[in-house]
Amino acid sequence: MVPLSGGRTAETATVGREGAVGGVVSHGYLPAFTQCVVQVEGAVLRMDADRLREAKRSSSTLNDLFVRYADCLLAQVLQSVACNAAHPIEQRVLRWLLGLQDRVGTDALPVTQVVLAGMLGIGRTYVTTVLTKLQDQGLIHVGRGRIYMLDRARTEAACCDCHARVRGHFRTVLGAIYAPDGEIVAVEATEPGTEPPPRPDAILPELREAGR
Ligand SMILES: [Zn+2]
Repeated sequence: MVPLSGGRTAETATVGREGAVGGVVSHGYLPAFTQCVVQVEGAVLRMDADRLREAKRSSSTLNDLFVRYADCLLAQVLQSVACNAAHPIEQRVLRWLLGLQDRVGTDALPVTQVVLAGMLGIGRTYVTTVLTKLQDQGLIHVGRGRIYMLDRARTEAACCDCHARVRGHFRTVLGAIYAPDGEIVAVEATEPGTEPPPRPDAILPELREAGR
């Protein structure tokens, strides 16, 4: 969460079991720039920043994992900036809900309309209008304190490609492993310097031609 003048806040990134918060994500510089707010309950590992720094110094694999996560977090933030500037609010809401579902791993997302409005930096009434529209399309059901994802595949199709791009980056760079319902179930620790095989769509056409 980034605090704004006038007491408002806006969400800039969502972090789940795949990530970390604090000034420790990449190279351990403190203090952290932003605040984090727990929106969904769950277990969290909290440790002293000095101990983590020491652990990263003694394990190049652990250090590499944090560096790769920092890259993915940056990708998430960059894509959010682009999405917020270019895409309609309905798609931004879907992107946010899909990203939350990836991190929670359930169809019933424990998020209220008030929280969602705060996350997206828009008014409560506007959120209700947008959610009603998405509900009429059969993509979600708005319940009491919950938003239910009714059809993951159709929701992904209705969303802009921002969610898929970030998800693909998490998979390629961090080694994120997704369950069929979208949940991130693990990240693969690889030896530093080990590069994952490039995705076919990441290869420039001219290079693909040259490789034939
Ligand atoms: Zn978008």
